[in-house]
Amino acid sequence: MPELPEVETIRRQLEPDLVGRKLEAVEVLDAYFSKPSTAAAFERAAAGREVLDVGRRGKYLMLELDDGNSVVIHLRMTGSLVLREPDGSANPGDPRVSPNSSPQAVDTSQAGPSADPAVDSGERHLRARFLLDDGGELRFSDPRRFGRGFVAGPDELDAYFGSRLGIEPLSPEFTVEAMAAMTAGRTGPLKSFLLNQKGVAGVGNIYADEALFRAGLHPLSPGGSMRDEHHRALRDGVVESLERGLDLGGASIDDYRDARGESGAMQNEFLVHRREGEGCPRCGETIVRIVVGGRSTYFCPGCQKRLRKRPRRRAR
Ligand SMILES: [Zn+2]
Repeated sequence: MPELPEVETIRRQLEPDLVGRKLEAVEVLDAYFSKPSTAAAFERAAAGREVLDVGRRGKYLMLELDDGNSVVIHLRMTGSLVLREPDGSANPGDPRVSPNSSPQAVDTSQAGPSADPAVDSGERHLRARFLLDDGGELRFSDPRRFGRGFVAGPDELDAYFGSRLGIEPLSPEFTVEAMAAMTAGRTGPLKSFLLNQKGVAGVGNIYADEALFRAGLHPLSPGGSMRDEHHRALRDGVVESLERGLDLGGASIDDYRDARGESGAMQNEFLVHRREGEGCPRCGETIVRIVVGGRSTYFCPGCQKRLRKRPRRRAR
């Protein structure tokens, strides 16, 4: 599932091509995409409007429109947004020849377009399209159909995000003090705290594991057992793992492709995530996999400290 670095990568790519463009026509091909709104209501609300800005909140992408409303899209499990250039080319970066791919990956995929599932699924799983006034087209594809889009005004949007999302981890508000306040008194595991979007918005399974490893903290440590040095380590771990993901254009484990149809490279640089049985890059101990809150969780038992189950009293 795309997390903050993947969605932010798409946002940065879309921004220069979408801002100032008019959505000439909007077509919802799968009524599921706009539920609970009808496809017609979604199309009516977005068509004919100019895009003033492309924003992101947590894992949500927003196209801010010239009437004050925004088109909000959540990619969920397998959604992708790919921009098709005005000249009709599939997209600027052919997914089979990504600059992030290793030479070997390029070689093995040269069997022809029909051998590439990404190309085929882009057509077969097309759920919505936004035709631009310069001839370009933004295409939302989603094999598993969990992705959603809706159009909302600023007040509606504030209420929607206010009840679902916490702090933006790459904003100045994400301080050591904020981390301390959010985790004070918590008895649940740190891994679950990081996955809860109402705490830190945009962190999912990949970056939670990577952040805890960077912080040297065991995923089952209770949030409230952290001391000041742990608050700092975890805050820094979250920021560093997200920035690493951004630098590498996101992680492509399953279906994730950026707005140019290309894969990210973060999956090649995971420190612990999906590295069960491999040696820890810090201490050499074998990385293990456990399940926390139903999610696969990878960590190093050698250097990720399990804090005692004693929520610390709040400082006066
Ligand atoms: Zn280790």
